[in-house]
Amino acid sequence: MTDVQKCIVCGSGELTSFPSEVSDFVVNRVLGGKPVDIRLEFCRACSMVFYNPRFDAHEMDRLYAGYRDDQYNRQRLEHDPDYDQNHRDNLRSRIEYFDRFCNGLNRSWRGSVLDFGGLRGEFINAAFPKAEKFVYDISGVAPVDGVRAVGGEPSQKFDFIVCAQVLEHVADPGTLVDQIKRFSHARTRFYFAVPMDFPPFQRLPGRLVNMLPAYMRLREILKRPGRYPLYEHVNYFCAPSLRNFFETHGFEISKIGLSRDSNLSCLAVTKEERMS
Ligand SMILES: [Zn+2]
Repeated sequence: MTDVQKCIVCGSGELTSFPSEVSDFVVNRVLGGKPVDIRLEFCRACSMVFYNPRFDAHEMDRLYAGYRDDQYNRQRLEHDPDYDQNHRDNLRSRIEYFDRFCNGLNRSWRGSVLDFGGLRGEFINAAFPKAEKFVYDISGVAPVDGVRAVGGEPSQKFDFIVCAQVLEHVADPGTLVDQIKRFSHARTRFYFAVPMDFPPFQRLPGRLVNMLPAYMRLREILKRPGRYPLYEHVNYFCAPSLRNFFETHGFEISKIGLSRDSNLSCLAVTKEERMS
């Protein structure tokens, strides 16, 4: 793992640190059984919250190889008995929200669609019935029927790119969105979604959670450091940090919204497209 001195979104050095813990699952699966000291950083400039130190590329590979396959689920359940192996209900509600968020544009979309980090491609397979569908995912799991896998180096450009429930997992989200842009052309439409998953507030309705500043949510978590150890999510976005992040990386957000189950979503184009 690698320590960073600045905010991973805005580059500010104005960070407030809080002690936290790594789950035994991650210690065993990723860190060779050796625990590390870890903390949550709150950026006072943009409200981003993230774990520090950060995973390197090899550690990310170990964490996500075979993500959610039988072996992964077994290992996860050993350490995390509450882990939910059945993501179907969650997927259905995310698609319903996406349909409304896009005003049904996806239902009639006939161009190409890439789900970046979309695991087996279930999301786009259901959400884009008429499109040509592709998925890229580091887990290496086989896509569902109707979706084709692509590699990490773009061999074609896509008309619509979905990247949902990914940015909260990755060590360097800026590098990831720069990689995603290489799969796009000037008129590509982007949909990004991240959870607002500050654990103590998960049961509150999404809009209520959104009204609480990130710092307040973080203070609640950190009254009990160790109660919410690191499993998968290393980044916690809120609306201001998400906007800041995409603007810094050359995107223009046309719409941002929060679902009832606390997912922050946005539609975007690249700034090159806005100016053309
Ligand atoms: Zn920041």
